[in-house]
Amino acid sequence: MKKFVIIGGGISGLSLAWFLKRRFGDKISLTIVEKENRLGGYVHTKRKDGFIFEQGARSCRSKGSGMQTLQLIEQLGLQDQVIAGDPSVKNRYLWIDKKLRSLPTGPFSFFTSSLMKGVIPALFKDLKTAPSSEKDESIYSFISRRFGSNIAETLIDPVTTGIYAGDIRQLSIKSCFPFLHEWEQAHGSVIKGAFKGRKKKRISSSKFVQEHQRASLFSLKDGIEILVHELAYRLREHLLLSNEATAFHFHPNKVEVDLKDGTILEADYLFSTIPASNLSSLFASHHKELSDLLASIPSISVAVVNLGYHKSVIKKRGFGYLIPSKEKENILGVVWDSSIFPQQNQIPEETRFTVMLGGAHFHNFDDLTSQECTNIALEAVSEHLRVDTPPDTISVKMAPKSIPQYLVGHAAKVEAIENILSRVFPRLTISGNSYYGVSFNDCIAYSKKLEENTKL
Ligand SMILES: Cc1cc2nc3c(=O)[nH]c(=O)nc-3n(C[C@H](O)[C@H](O)[C@H](O)COP(=O)(O)OP(=O)(O)OC[C@H]3O[C@@H](n4cnc5c(N)ncnc54)[C@H](O)[C@@H]3O)c2cc1C
Repeated sequence: MKKFVIIGGGISGLSLAWFLKRRFGDKISLTIVEKENRLGGYVHTKRKDGFIFEQGARSCRSKGSGMQTLQLIEQLGLQDQVIAGDPSVKNRYLWIDKKLRSLPTGPFSFFTSSLMKGVIPALFKDLKTAPSSEKDESIYSFISRRFGSNIAETLIDPVTTGIYAGDIRQLSIKSCFPFLHEWEQAHGSVIKGAFKGRKKKRISSSKFVQEHQRASLFSLKDGIEILVHELAYRLREHLLLSNEATAFHFHPNKVEVDLKDGTILEADYLFSTIPASNLSSLFASHHKELSDLLASIPSISVAVVNLGYHKSVIKKRGFGYLIPSKEKENILGVVWDSSIFPQQNQIPEETRFTVMLGGAHFHNFDDLTSQECTNIALEAVSEHLRVDTPPDTISVKMAPKSIPQYLVGHAAKVEAIENILSRVFPRLTISGNSYYGVSFNDCIAYSKKLEENTKL
């Protein structure tokens, strides 16, 4: 019987374990090692004073790799939990020049919105600009080359903030927005690619998946962590919690994994789903080049401040707002959770906000206390939303080094890591949000791909 060991019990490790178990059943032995006493990593739903707060991932895009997440939900029998984002989520805002400005929601507002000033010439610029021959470049360089620097700084910077909390002058276009890079390379322009690239092959999926892929966003009624709980239950006999992988020993026919409590696990196949920086230290004495490559994939710190009110404190409905870094505000943006997923509201008039702080532009963020983060969050909702009512409940989660940064050259780094692994450590496979996509969906889709590529 082949022995599979998975290091890390976040969504990458758990979904991989589930797909492998579903496919190979009793033909394999499976162990998941998690250093904390809880599973889920950056998926964490907190119930506090009658509110449902997400301290990590809160929503998933339905399209694209949302399909694999919906399929997983279906396999686990959690269909009744799926909730679609409210239609008002199309209302999205940017905080610019001390005002909330709405992004266009349709063709009319596209032409009338003040945010779209200069967009038409920018579209023509894209059509006229030849593709770059560079292998990779920063998001800022790509967007300003094709659309102008105003589009990069005003529109793309906050979108990037919402996903990576990073700096568009350092993040890679190829790894952070691969479809934009591909459209340019394949069709000569992003606009042309957006039209031509749309005609994608239809992949057959169940009625449940098709139905939910029609909405733009989805989540789970009792919080995203429900998925983790169900996976934990289904995988219960394979879990080793509160135990950390501390060293690997590679032999020609097996790998040994040392655990913190002194146990040694044997594996025919070893999967690491832990952050690249953690894996780097496990290779420090084995292979310096590999260890250095892994260490060169940094992660950035953020904090999540959830505010709960037992009444309605804001008239606007929508997804919330993001802030371009040039505005030099102390927060990244505010998500209007009670408006996005009203199905999670325990009373109809409740309001839930999530204020996101930190990221690449907040210097010395790691020195802040959770009380300081709370104060910044309360000041922001007062100034930006005119909400001065004290929240009934506050929950703060500091998330140090939680969001991987795919810097320019990331794809080449990952390729170099894969090459070393296949040459020198062929029994180890890497996965997790440090390499192939940071979203919840990306993690699950990559686990599915790994399972499909696994041969006994
Ligand atoms: C604040 C925040 C908000 C987010 N919001 C969204 C969102 O709305 N939508 C979305 O799609 N994505 C979102 N994301 C991203 C998404 O949640 C993560 O990318 C994803 O959950 C990462 O899963 P993972 O399993 O790859 O890594 P992790 O969750 O980091 O899991 C890795 C696990 O490995 C364990 N570990 C580490 N070292 C060892 C060791 N040596 N031995 C054993 N175990 C070890 C850790 O304890 C951890 O449990 C958000 C992320 C953050 C931080």
